[in-house]
Amino acid sequence: MEPFTNDRLQLPRNMIENSMFEEEPDVVDLAKEPCLHPLEPDEVEYEPRGSRLLVRGLGEHELDEDEEDYESSAKLLGMSFMNRSSGLRNSAAGYRQNSDGTCPAPSARTIGVCVCIILLAVAIILAIYFLPRCTFTKEGCHKNNRPTEPIQPIATNGKLFPWAQIRLPTAVTPVRYDLTLHPNLTSMTFRGSVTISLQALQATWNIILHSTGHNISRVTFMTAVSSQEKEVDVLEYPLHEQIAIVAPETLLEGHNYTLKIEYSANISSSYYGFYGISYRDESNEKKYFAATQFEPLAARSAFPCFDEPAFKATFVIRIKRDEQYTALSNMPKKSSVVLEDGLVQDEFFESVKMSTYLVAFIVGEMKNLSQDVNGTLVSIYAVPEKIGQVQHALETTVKLLDFYQSYFEIQYPLKKLDLVAIPDFEAGAMENWGLLTFREETLLYDANTSSVADRKLVTKVIAHELAHQWFGNLVTMQWWNDVWLNEGFATFMEYFSLEKIFGELSSYEDFLDARFKTMKKDSLNSSHPISSSSVESSEQIEEMFDSLSYFKGASLLLMLKTYLSEDIFQHAIILYLHNHSYTSIHSDDLWDSFNEFTNKTLDVKKMMRTWTLQKGFPLVTVQRKGKQILVQQERFCLNVKPEIQPSDASSLWHIPLSYITDGKNYSKHRSVSLLDKKSGVINLTEEVQWIKVNTNMTGYYIVHYADDNWEALIKQLKINPYVLSDKDRANLINNIFELAGLGKVSLQRAFDLIDYLRNETYTAPISEALFQTELIYNLLDKLGHVDLASRLVNKVFKLLQSQIQQQTWTDEGTPSTRELRSVLLDFACAHRLENCSAAALKLFFDWMASNGTQSLPTDVMTTVFKAGAKTEGGWSFLLSKYVSLGSEAEKNKILEALASSEDVRKLYWLMKKSLDGDLIRTQKLSFIIRTVARHFPGHLLAWDFVKENWSKLVQKFHLGSYTIQSIVAGSTHLFATKAHLSEVQAFFENQSEATFRLRCVQEALEVIQLNMQWVEKNLKTLTYWL
Ligand SMILES: [Zn+2]
Repeated sequence: MEPFTNDRLQLPRNMIENSMFEEEPDVVDLAKEPCLHPLEPDEVEYEPRGSRLLVRGLGEHELDEDEEDYESSAKLLGMSFMNRSSGLRNSAAGYRQNSDGTCPAPSARTIGVCVCIILLAVAIILAIYFLPRCTFTKEGCHKNNRPTEPIQPIATNGKLFPWAQIRLPTAVTPVRYDLTLHPNLTSMTFRGSVTISLQALQATWNIILHSTGHNISRVTFMTAVSSQEKEVDVLEYPLHEQIAIVAPETLLEGHNYTLKIEYSANISSSYYGFYGISYRDESNEKKYFAATQFEPLAARSAFPCFDEPAFKATFVIRIKRDEQYTALSNMPKKSSVVLEDGLVQDEFFESVKMSTYLVAFIVGEMKNLSQDVNGTLVSIYAVPEKIGQVQHALETTVKLLDFYQSYFEIQYPLKKLDLVAIPDFEAGAMENWGLLTFREETLLYDANTSSVADRKLVTKVIAHELAHQWFGNLVTMQWWNDVWLNEGFATFMEYFSLEKIFGELSSYEDFLDARFKTMKKDSLNSSHPISSSSVESSEQIEEMFDSLSYFKGASLLLMLKTYLSEDIFQHAIILYLHNHSYTSIHSDDLWDSFNEFTNKTLDVKKMMRTWTLQKGFPLVTVQRKGKQILVQQERFCLNVKPEIQPSDASSLWHIPLSYITDGKNYSKHRSVSLLDKKSGVINLTEEVQWIKVNTNMTGYYIVHYADDNWEALIKQLKINPYVLSDKDRANLINNIFELAGLGKVSLQRAFDLIDYLRNETYTAPISEALFQTELIYNLLDKLGHVDLASRLVNKVFKLLQSQIQQQTWTDEGTPSTRELRSVLLDFACAHRLENCSAAALKLFFDWMASNGTQSLPTDVMTTVFKAGAKTEGGWSFLLSKYVSLGSEAEKNKILEALASSEDVRKLYWLMKKSLDGDLIRTQKLSFIIRTVARHFPGHLLAWDFVKENWSKLVQKFHLGSYTIQSIVAGSTHLFATKAHLSEVQAFFENQSEATFRLRCVQEALEVIQLNMQWVEKNLKTLTYWL
C-alpha cells in the first residue's frame, strides 16, 4: 500500500498582523451554507472554539492552575467556554484543595458510609469476577481491543465462544475460496455466498475464522467423503471479529472439508472493506462506484475468511452486476452470463495462491487503455471522462513491468495487470494482485496541468505498487509485525527502479529528503523497531503502516545494498524471491538469503538485526588524531528530559562507515569499514584537512565531528562546495541542524555552514536548508516572535537572493531545476520578496481573465494560485474552478492555494466541506488539515476542527491508520507552549485508553515538549545574533 503523503516542502508564510487575535475572531459556520460563495457578510454566525484559548500570550498560563484563573484568562480574550471539553473542567475541579491547602477531617458517619460502600463494591467485583460466563468479555467491556484476556469469551447468543485469542488457531487452513457477490449500488447493500475448501492440520471440533458486519443466514458443512451438506450453528464474537463453526463431527488431521456461508451486509461508507462511493460525471449526473480496500484487516468485512496474511489460498470470484457497469477482480474474466433477471454475472479465473488482504473487486462505469507486454495485458482504467489522462500511466507501467521482470528474474505470473483510478480512495494506492487501485491523482496525468512533481508522484506510486507484485504478493510477511518487508522493499524498489529507468527525474533527491524526515521521527522516544514483536490488536497493526516501516525499511536496504555491492544485493533478493514464492516469511528468512552470498565473510543477519530490532539510529562521533580517525557510537535521541540518558544506553549498531577525505576521489574509492563496537579507529594513509563520513548519506546515521573538522568542512564549502556531492552537502546541512537541536553544536555554527548557499545551485541542499530554517521560522512565528521570524527570513533570503533572481515563470529546464524553481519562487512569494507576489498576481489575473483556459507554467501554478487566493475574487474564482475541473493535478494545486488562505472562515468552511465529502472529497481532508495547520491563524483552527470532529474522523479513517497519524501530527506539530501541551494531552486522555496510547498521540506530545525545549534553549541566542 502507498500511504498518501503529499508532504512536499512547505515554505514559510507571510507575516500576519499581531492584531489578528486582539478581538474575538468571527467563525462562520459555513458548513450550514451550501452555496459556493461562503462568505456573504450577512450570514455570519458566531461559533467560538475551544483552543482559541491558546493564542499568543496565553502560553504562560497553565491549564492545571485554578479553574477560575483559567476561565478568567480566557474571558480576558473574549472567549467562550461553551465548547470546552467537560473532562478538562472536571479534572481541574477534582484536584481543588481547601483554601488552606489541607483536606478536611471526615466525620464518623462519613467513615461508616464509606466502609459500607467499599465492602459492597468489593462484593460486586468478586461476584462478577467469579461468575461463569463472565460478562467482562462482551463487546463494550474492552473498547481498546487489548490482546488476549484469560477469561472465556461469550458469543453473541450467550454460548461459550471456543477461542479467546486475537490470532486465529492454525488447526484448520483454507485451501480455496469460491465467492459470489451481488452488490446493489443504489441501496448500498450486498448479498454474498462463500464456499471455503479447508484442510485440517490437526484434529479439532471448531473452525474459527474472521467475519464482521455480516448477517449470516445459513452455514453448511460437508466432508470430502460424504459430500452431504449439513446445516451447522455459527457462534459470533464481534470483539475479535471472529466466528466459530462447531462441526458436526471431529475434523481429522489431513482431511479436507467444505464450509459454505450465505450472508448479507452493507456496502461500507468508510474507505475500508467493500465500500461504495458516489460522484458526479461531466454532465453532473450522480454515479455510483464500489471498490475494495482490504489491507490490513478488512477482507473479513466483505466475506468470512481466514484474514491473516499467512493463510494463503486461491480464490474464484463471481460478481453479479447491472449491465452498464464493468466488474474487475484480481484475475482475468473467465465468462460473462446474462441471468434471468437481466443482471450479468462475471466469473473470474481461479487466482494464484495469495493472502486475503490482496483480494479485490471493483464495480463501476469505467473505460480503459491497454497494451500487451509479453503475454500480460496491461490496462489503465478510469471513469469514462478521464480516459484521456491514462496514457502516461500505461507507458510507465509497461517500462516498469519489463524492468522488474528482468531484475528479479521472475515473470509476473498473471495474464493481466489492471491499474484503476478510483474516484475516492483513502490511501495513495493499493497493490491487490493483478488489480492495482489508485487515487485519480496518483495515476492520471494531464500534460497541461501536471507539474514535474506530479509526474514523479505518478511514476513513483506505480513503481511502488508494481514492486509489491513480488515483494508482498509473491512473498508475504507472516504477520503484520514485519510489514516493513512489504513496504520497505516496495519503497526501496520505487526509488531504485526510477533511478534505473527514469534517471532524468532525479528521484534520489526525494529519497534523500524522505530519509531526513524519517530519521527525525525515529529520533523520538515514541519511535519503535521496524520489526516489532508486540503487534496484535487492530490499532497496533494499523500503526505499523507508518513512515518508519516504509522509509526506514527502504533506507536500511539502501545502506545494505551500498555496503554489499549492487551485484550481491540483486542476487540475494532473487534467491529470496525464488525460495519463498507463494509462501510467508519472517525478516530472518531475508537475511538468510543474503548470508548465502556473503560466504560467511559477513553475517548479514547479525548486522541487520541491530537495525530492525531496535528503535532509533546511531550518532557517530568522529575525531581526527593525525592519520587516525577515532569513531564512537551512541543512540541519537532527542530526549525531552536531557538530564536523563536514554534507558537503552547500551544500544549498539553494526554501522558501515563510509567516508571521503579532501584530495581523494571518493566516488571511485570505496572507503568503508564496519563499526560493530562502541568505538573504533580508522587508519588513514596520510593526514587530511577534513573527513566527511557517511558518503552520499547512504548510511542510516548522523555524524558529529570535532570542532576542527566542522570548521574545515565549513571552509571547504565556502571555497569550493562541489568537491562534495549534492547529497553530501545536503547531508551536512541536515546533520548540523539536527545536532543543533540536540545541543551538540551551536545554532550559530549551523548557520555558518549554510552561509555557502550563495554558491549553491543544486536542489537537494537548498531544499534541506529551507526545510530546516522553516522549522525555526514556524516556531518563532507561532509563538508571536514576529520580528525575530522576519529577521530569520531576511537572513535566508540574502543567501538565496541571486538564485531567486535568476528564476523565470516557466516550465523550462531539467526536472530537478524545475523543482528548485518551484521551491524558490514559493519561498519568495510567501514572504513577498523580490516582487515575486506582483509577478504571480499578474499571471493569476491573466489566467482568470481567460476564464482559466490560458495555460500556466505547471511547476509554479500552485504559487500563482496562492497569490490569487489571497484576494477575495481570486479565492471565489478558484473555488468555482475547483468544482468544475476534470484534472486532479490542477484541482490539487487549487486546493492547496485555497487552504493557504489567511481567512479563518474560509479555512473552516474548506475543512467542513471536505468532511462532508460532496464538494470536496473526504480523501483530501488530511491534506487540507495539514495545509491549514501550517499557517498562523489556521494552526489553531485545524486543531479545533480535529477535536470537534474526532469521532467522525476515526469512524471514517480508523484509529491508528496512516491518515489519522497524519492528521494528529499535522494539527499539533507546531505547538510549543505548556498550555497547548496540556490541552492536547487532556483531549486524548478524555477519549479512550486505546486512543491515548496511540503512538501518534505520544509522538505529538513529545514533539510539543521538544519544541518548548528548543525555544527555551535557543530563543535568547537567536535574539542576540540573528
Ligand atoms: Zn506499499
